Amino acid sequence: MEVIKSTEEIKSINFDSPFALVPTMGNLHKGHLSLVKYGIENYSEVITSIFINPLQFGKNEDFSSYPKTISQDIQLLESLGCNYLFIPEKNFAENLNIIEPKFSDVLCGLSRPTHFQGVLTIIDKFLRIIKPNACLFGLKDYQQQLIIKEFVKRKKIKTDIISLPIVREKFGLAMSSRNNYLSDEDKKFCGKIYSCIKKLAASLKTTSLEVLKSEAKDFLQNAGFEIDYLEIVDANNLSSVSKNTDKVLIATAVIYKKVRLIDNIVVSL
Ligand code: AMP
Repeated sequence: MEVIKSTEEIKSINFDSPFALVPTMGNLHKGHLSLVKYGIENYSEVITSIFINPLQFGKNEDFSSYPKTISQDIQLLESLGCNYLFIPEKNFAENLNIIEPKFSDVLCGLSRPTHFQGVLTIIDKFLRIIKPNACLFGLKDYQQQLIIKEFVKRKKIKTDIISLPIVREKFGLAMSSRNNYLSDEDKKFCGKIYSCIKKLAASLKTTSLEVLKSEAKDFLQNAGFEIDYLEIVDANNLSSVSKNTDKVLIATAVIYKKVRLIDNIVVSL
């Protein structure tokens, strides 16, 4: 695997087509690696990027303490057969025109008001300089991939945005670099988040959404989670569920021992 540390250099490479980009912030786990594997199986070459994007962190968030495990990440990517690792320069996020996303005024966008601007601004730069045939994202960050898909479509950018399934820990907690802040026992306990939204999904057709939401929130609160949000929305545009909705997104963000954890399920109606 070739490690590229400059924007000029990555721009000058003629990748074998079709090639895929997997943008990450590093501290790679099986969730990230599932995207890289998908890339290797379906494209001629795969570029993984590792960049802890300052633009997507709020003032009181964990930018400076975000876990960094670069040599371990390199080993994992090499063992999978990733072709390139791009680690941009420190100033990669400087002097960019901030892009305003759609669908960012709900769910995670409410408590992280500048988060998706930051994500979209950096992803746009990646797409402009690398021009991949496909860019791969995890459905764990459902709102993120929806925002990027909408942007790419609106701007007629010729990159396929591919969304891939959530990879989970043994007891159901969605894998995340932030799970590193939790003990094994905590991770097992946090499996309750997934069981709660799964249970909710199973009752969608028989119980009103308001009742389901309120029951699920009570359950999580009583278990010891602080709730940022728990919502059931139209999965196509994150608006309220209507008679035209064909698939719903059940999404939640909770805080456990100061760690913000997100999860979701999409259910076709
Ligand atoms: P991050 O490093 O958190 O920016 O994540 C990089 C990419 O990996 C994003 O597209 C995430 O949605 C994806 N990702 C993170 N965790 C998971 C997971 N548990 N399952 C699938 N994809 C994931």
